[in-house]
Amino acid sequence: MIDLRSDTVTKPSDAMRDAAHDAEVGDDVYGDDPSVNELERRAADLVGMEAALFVPSGTMGNQVAIRTHTERGQELVVDNEAHVVKWELGGVADLSGVQARMVDCGPRAVPTAEQVRAAYVEESLHRPGTGLLCLENTHNSRGGVAVGVDAIEEACEAAHDLGVPVHLDGARLFNAAVALDVAPEALTGPADTVNFCLSKGLGAPVGSLLAGPAPFVDRARRVRKLFGGGMRQAGVVAAPGLLALENVDRLADDHANARVLAEGLDAIAGISVQEPDTNIVMISAEEAGVSASDLTAAAADHGVAFNPTGAYTARLCTHLDVSRADVTKAVDRIAAAVESLRL
Ligand SMILES: *Cc1c(COP(=O)(O)O)cnc(C)c1O
Repeated sequence: MIDLRSDTVTKPSDAMRDAAHDAEVGDDVYGDDPSVNELERRAADLVGMEAALFVPSGTMGNQVAIRTHTERGQELVVDNEAHVVKWELGGVADLSGVQARMVDCGPRAVPTAEQVRAAYVEESLHRPGTGLLCLENTHNSRGGVAVGVDAIEEACEAAHDLGVPVHLDGARLFNAAVALDVAPEALTGPADTVNFCLSKGLGAPVGSLLAGPAPFVDRARRVRKLFGGGMRQAGVVAAPGLLALENVDRLADDHANARVLAEGLDAIAGISVQEPDTNIVMISAEEAGVSASDLTAAAADHGVAFNPTGAYTARLCTHLDVSRADVTKAVDRIAAAVESLRL
């Protein structure tokens, strides 16, 4: 099976397994796991922030950030396709008691300054007030869109002018940096805090990092404990995470493979493809009159796994564990699957 469901499906390398085995550990809740401390320091440096916090998942990183930034009853301004409101089980309401003011950012994926100002609510006797702006880069549900520095700066500046802090959901931050050929800091600098995943394209088995100013990270550490994310000898997962940071530059290979995949799929009659910025390829089988569930089921029968995202649309992800040859094979198999559905 060629598994293109997500870049989270990568298996840890032998080097990562060895690193886990050999990791120096302590009790991270007491702050004395040397592997976790090193990972947090390296991660903070990498994204140009003062400090970072190791968390078990991207979801926890975002939810801890939102809880730490906001007060109950406040509003969160966010794109309506953003992961924090679409794929995190209503956590912003459940865990932080904030309501989402959703903005349709379209293919641009982040709000314009005008959209930020229009969404802003000033606190009053009758209105809750805006507590946070949340951005996403790359933007998952909009097709792995790499949002450029100018658009990030524009949104952050508009929010800051209104006294609103900004959290960047950078689960795939390094895909954006590599695709745009900019330093990660250029994308994170305008925001107050950033979350990024080790467990996606970077290939680690577990973990994400929430980075920001040191006093923010201190408060976030208490929220992590509250949410049940205080881990003990976490060095066994932090050590492979340190190796994952070495996989940043090779993300360019995944992007090149995604382009090959997109071109191959686009050539199949009835399939249309959104040109990929990074490692995510969005396709539609509407022209072929084939539903996404039929398409993914037939593709699985032909040895390629990927997920539906709508009635006719589906998402395919390239990653560390798929080669150029796998991608070419996947195109042939999907073409055969489409053919089988047309009969
Ligand atoms: C995957 C993802 C997350 C959540 O990460 P998990 O580790 O799966 O909880 C958050 N935001 C975006 C944009 C993602 O793609």
